[in-house]
Amino acid sequence: MPLSILKMLRIYNTLSRKIEDFKPIDPEKIGIYTCGPTVYREVHIGNFRTYIGGDILRRVLTYNGHRVVHVKNITDVGHMRNISGNHHSSANSPQADQIDPIIEEAIKKGKTPQEIAEHFTKLYLSDEKKLNILPATVYPKATEHVKEMIEIIKVLLKKGFAYETNGTVYFDVKKFKSYGKLSGNTLDKMDNLLKAVRVSLETDKKDSIDFALWKKAEKDRFMKWESPWGEGFPGWHIECSAMSIKYLGDSFDIHTGGEDLIFPHHEDEIAQSEAATGQKFANYWAHGGYLLVDGEKMSRSKGNVYTILDLEKQGFDPLSFRYLTLTVHYKSKMNFTFKALEAAQTALNHLREIVSQYDVPKISRDGQRSSAEHEKRFLEAINDDLNIPKALSIVWEMVKSDFPTPDIAESLFKFDKILGLDLENAKSYIKKEKETVPEKIMELIAQRDELRKNKRYNLADQVRHKIEKLGYEIQDGEDGSTNVKKIN
Ligand code: AMP
Ligand code: ZN
Repeated sequence: MPLSILKMLRIYNTLSRKIEDFKPIDPEKIGIYTCGPTVYREVHIGNFRTYIGGDILRRVLTYNGHRVVHVKNITDVGHMRNISGNHHSSANSPQADQIDPIIEEAIKKGKTPQEIAEHFTKLYLSDEKKLNILPATVYPKATEHVKEMIEIIKVLLKKGFAYETNGTVYFDVKKFKSYGKLSGNTLDKMDNLLKAVRVSLETDKKDSIDFALWKKAEKDRFMKWESPWGEGFPGWHIECSAMSIKYLGDSFDIHTGGEDLIFPHHEDEIAQSEAATGQKFANYWAHGGYLLVDGEKMSRSKGNVYTILDLEKQGFDPLSFRYLTLTVHYKSKMNFTFKALEAAQTALNHLREIVSQYDVPKISRDGQRSSAEHEKRFLEAINDDLNIPKALSIVWEMVKSDFPTPDIAESLFKFDKILGLDLENAKSYIKKEKETVPEKIMELIAQRDELRKNKRYNLADQVRHKIEKLGYEIQDGEDGSTNVKKIN
């Protein structure tokens, strides 16, 4: 497609701290790298907020007429002894030697690390599908790229950017003068910051700001590889450098992730990649804001870590979570509450009801639609640093207008290439909604049955009212069975 008819995206670049015009290296093949899931545990809704953000970016570029190659790695290596299972935590984390409870559980059940990784990868991919996140072009696995990681480390050693002590290889941060350009944690600042903790626990490091590229395997390590430095495993950050360079080249267009990855993960990725290749690594860095639950950071100890399955168990359609994320700009923090999710589900259901009434023309009449002005404004909004909340408000404005419905339908299905709400199948969701009874209602029905069995009829009636308030009607069959139906 000629450049002149491509629409240009403007996007905030963490590297320049400015909104910039997006200038691709090759408009026919835009490279996006997304730090993918760690597959030793379930992926939560916070992670998915970030992945939906990456999906929107990719959809906007495709809508603008580009071809996109999207690489999303699967972190299935190296962190079996990290309590959070998080490859992005600081290399000096005091928790680094504790065992992840999920792994512990799996070991108890007699599973291998590969089986665990496979299980959680499958779960991740199935959740991605439920959320209508377009599949990446490639999902490279860390375990299958250890050779590439070793090659980069060898180059870094040869160029003098790394040193080996006792089977562990460190990146010599002070040798990379532009360290800190992404996060602002420049060498002088880091020096001051770290003076207080100068006595590092890892005494074989030259400097506490140095980070591990390769680690010597401890005696009881599950996953380890042969290397020129003995048996070991890759450090926290090298996997993303190796896999992005392999699939997208030394320099590529956009690197995405959540804001927590800016430092140290992405800063270290830049340092080791640019030191090895001598080229600029990613041209644009797009970071999404954090998702909080009821205003608080999610944590397993607080019991507020939710997965897509948890939302489904409470009767929500995964796409209502997608809808909810569309209502908040990707860079802002998003406060998740079940009340907000309910409102998102209601809005999505309403949109589906509206769409299901439209008669959709068989032949598209591009450019002649009465909704053309809305299409223009929608295009502007999505290209204005991915202003999806505004794009969504244009959708509502359009569906409430009195334009001919065939025009609205056509524009709406076009918009849905960005929103990803699967509006073309609205009717089937409505049907499903009517047929499925949420687990919460089923639990209440069981509670009521139990109360009736114990002849506690007053309490049983209260439960019935609760069920009705939640939108379901129950009828007791003569054979003692209970029928449940959604109230229309
Ligand atoms: P992790 O598995 O911890 O590496 O996280 C995978 C992706 O999810 C990364 O891009 C993180 O930045 C992102 N992420 C983790 N927690 C949250 C959260 N609460 N809200 C938004 N994104 C998150
Ligand atoms: Zn990464």
